[in-house]
Amino acid sequence: MLLDLAITGATAVTPDGVLARDVGVRGGKIASIAAPGNLEASTTTIDARGMLLLPGAIDVHTHLDAEMYNAHTIDDFESGTIAAAAGGVTSIIDYAFQREGGSLSDAIARWHAKADGRAVIDYGFHVAILDPSPAAIAEIDSIAARGVTSFKIFMMRGFEARARDFMRAFQAVAEAGAMLTIHAEDEHLIGYCTERLLGAGKFAVANFPASRPPLSEAAAVERGLAMASSAHAAAYFVHLSSGGALDAIRRARARGQAVLAETRPIYLYLNDERFLEPGAEKYVGFPPLRSERDREAVWAAIADGTVDVLATDHCSWNLAHKSAPDRFTRIPPGMANLETLVPMLYSEGVVKRRLSLARFVDLIATNPARIFGMYPRKGAIVEGSDADLVVFDPNRQVVIHSTEMHSRADYDVFEGFEVTGWPRETISRGEVVASDREPSARAGRGRFLERARFNPEWRSR
Ligand SMILES: [Zn+2]
Repeated sequence: MLLDLAITGATAVTPDGVLARDVGVRGGKIASIAAPGNLEASTTTIDARGMLLLPGAIDVHTHLDAEMYNAHTIDDFESGTIAAAAGGVTSIIDYAFQREGGSLSDAIARWHAKADGRAVIDYGFHVAILDPSPAAIAEIDSIAARGVTSFKIFMMRGFEARARDFMRAFQAVAEAGAMLTIHAEDEHLIGYCTERLLGAGKFAVANFPASRPPLSEAAAVERGLAMASSAHAAAYFVHLSSGGALDAIRRARARGQAVLAETRPIYLYLNDERFLEPGAEKYVGFPPLRSERDREAVWAAIADGTVDVLATDHCSWNLAHKSAPDRFTRIPPGMANLETLVPMLYSEGVVKRRLSLARFVDLIATNPARIFGMYPRKGAIVEGSDADLVVFDPNRQVVIHSTEMHSRADYDVFEGFEVTGWPRETISRGEVVASDREPSARAGRGRFLERARFNPEWRSR
């Protein structure tokens, strides 16, 4: 039987190693992986000589069409997933926010309405629990049965007053075999530091990092670990940014605790000196950019396996949103960076820091798939998996300019970075959805990803 698509001549990053392999696609799935020249005949062929073939990346931390600070993020599921596709990302998991007093099912229904008909790549949801009412906690198991198998808790806002209720939610998440994701910043420590700065008239953005110091992260990670352990919950810490927090993760693992760690591109490529620049509001995200020493600590944790996942926390704004507020506490947090997830890690990690191709792919595809119940359908080049693939040109030189990016945001935090390596074709379920940085996918072709519950043996599975 004819293949629909053959990708020939590439060096493929597979679970069996980095190998010269031709990959055949039929019916949207990887049908065969063969030594060069040994594939069946195909209707279409992509000549990928000199290219790397990677599994499509999975960004498990996005905020598309999200409401916060009385505004809507600039990217919706259409522009956000188009940017993703242009950058080699073939699946995302977006955070569906519970409303105060609302149900978790309502959050999922609202997020389906945002994504339906718009997404160009596949997408799943996590649910962010903002109101751990008994009714909401009672929904957790049935939500997990619908393929939404991860739940988020923010330790930095509204957490302390209801910490015991949140712990009941931790327990329900654990009992449902789901994953608990935690935003770890200590609410009281941040509150105290912020009040002290504002009280002294220090409203400028240069004061922002001091309002959320590294200790507020390390302390929250330690406490989150203790709470998760007490509730017998596996815990996944999002966007860790500091050496102290990463050391806490290492100690917990050494004790045998089930703990996963994510970091975010900005902590790898930027440091807190950016807050001294004019227009520094654009760099505001939670937690803040850290010192050069912390930046190196995050790289060390990338290299030694402490960090499992790199995810963007894509939360897009225009400069007008970011720079209008009169004090740092009113700047909406986050920035667009979906399109640069893959090439920036390749350039700064693989090229400059000798990160192995295996580790590169683990961080952006395989680990996210395994941890969030998508493996082996997503996250690896194996027969039978969805044909989500990236033909990656390791030599292409690109200077990042926001005007050439596909997010609707009017700036890019990596503006001017010179990058070596960029996706040439992005393929989602066998269909080329972007080619030479130009997206070509139809809005609405993306499908909802029903995910399995967490497998504690995720590394060996
Ligand atoms: Zn986030």
